[in-house]
Parts: sequence; C-alpha cells; structure tokens
Amino acid sequence: MTGSSQGIGRAIVVRFAAEGANVVLNYPMPAQLDKANGVLDEIKKAGGAGIVVQADVSKPAEVQAMMAEAVKQFGKIDILVNNAGVEKHAAFLDVTEKDYDFVLDINLKGAFFAAQAAARFMVDLKTPGRIINISSVHEDLPFPNFTAYCASKGGMKMMMRNLAIELAPHNITVNNIAPGAIETPINAALLNDPHKLAALLENIPLGRLGKPKDVSGIAVFLATEDADYVTGATFFVDGGLTWNYTEQ
Ligand code: BGC
Repeated sequence: MTGSSQGIGRAIVVRFAAEGANVVLNYPMPAQLDKANGVLDEIKKAGGAGIVVQADVSKPAEVQAMMAEAVKQFGKIDILVNNAGVEKHAAFLDVTEKDYDFVLDINLKGAFFAAQAAARFMVDLKTPGRIINISSVHEDLPFPNFTAYCASKGGMKMMMRNLAIELAPHNITVNNIAPGAIETPINAALLNDPHKLAALLENIPLGRLGKPKDVSGIAVFLATEDADYVTGATFFVDGGLTWNYTEQ
C-alpha cells in the first residue's frame, strides 16, 4: 500500500487490516515515520498486523526492496494498492520540468514500477493477485492548471487497461478507483478557501466532499472474491461530479 500515512491511503490500509490483511504501510521519507507509526499503532490496537517500510515510490530500486521486505515478512504479496499521489497547481505555460517530473515520477512511474515489482512476486510465487490503483476523476476529466496531474492519471488509466490484459493469464486483476474531491491533505488549499470550496460544492450533485472512507469500501470490494471477474475497469467515487452538466 503506497502512501499509507495519510488521506485515502490511510483509510484503505486501516480498513484492509480490519478485514484481516497483513498490511505493509509505505511512507516516503523519514519525516513521515511518526505518522506511519501512528497508523500502525491504530491498526495494532484494533487487533490487526502490519509493518512500516520507507520507500520513495519514484525510485524503482526502493520500491523493489519494499516488495522484497513484504515477501520476507509475510511470505507473499497478493494485493497492491498504488495510492501515493501528488499534484501541483500551475498554468500550462508556466509548468517547470522539475514540477512535471515530481508529479509524473510519483503518480505514474511510481505506480508502474510498483505494479511491476509486485506482479513479479505474484507470478513467481503463483499467487493470484489484485492491483488497485487510486487514480482520479482526472484520468478522464480535464482539470485546467493541473495538466501534469491529468497526464499522470490519464497514463494510469491506460497502464491499468494494459496490465489487466497482460496479467490476466496469471490470475492478477487490475482496476482503478477514480475519486473526485475527497477531504484529504492533497486538497488542503481548497479546503481552507471558502470561495473555492463553495464553487466546488456547486458542481457536486451529492452536495458534499467525499471522505476517505467513501473510497476504502470499494477498495475492499475489489480485493474480495466478489470481484474475481472484475478487471480492466475504473470505478468513479465522486458524488456525481464527473457527469454533472445542467442548463437553465
Ligand atoms: C484532485 C483534487 C480535486 C479533485 C476534484 C482530485 O483528483 O486531487 O485536487 O479537487 O480531483 O477535481
């Protein structure tokens, strides 16, 4: 589970542990260790099991080492949740190479090589597997001033579709969850700006932001036997945001 110390990742990892999974909580840098340990404590108090592993998902070698640690501790990897994600606000004309690389390296390269590292273990150990990517409504929906983010999530959509086909013979399913506006740290600027928030709420038919737990339920579903025949699909969790269009 990449990016487990906060937001949607935190909600999913806590829920997976409550459902009985042995979880690997990934966090990106030493400064986040306390947060990750806080999540692990919560899991252990509830009777769950897991470990914390630091890995910068934009570095394939660190991700491979994390997967190897997971196998060493728990004997196999059967579910990967690619959740780590970042965004940067900038008009297209002003996007810097540094910001482009930051967003693409974490959101797309990170998910790509995490999927590859996990799938290699699933195939080698003959483990039926689940790969669940936390994408965004912006894998389909334009988002002006977030072009690098949209490119990363659009790329994640096509990566998911390809992997669903390539990995199906190994009994590995691959799906995306596409959250809309969820109350998480990635949205801190928006949440703290009453005008922007009110404008956004106007666009959400269900009239509220999503909560991380609105996303974790479908992640659990995708990891269960009920989803055995589900692969190559994106599940939108957006309160109706994506297809909202009205004329007076
Ligand atoms: C982005 C948020 C945005 C939301 C809805 C998410 O993918 O991370 O910044 O508010 O989509 O547009």
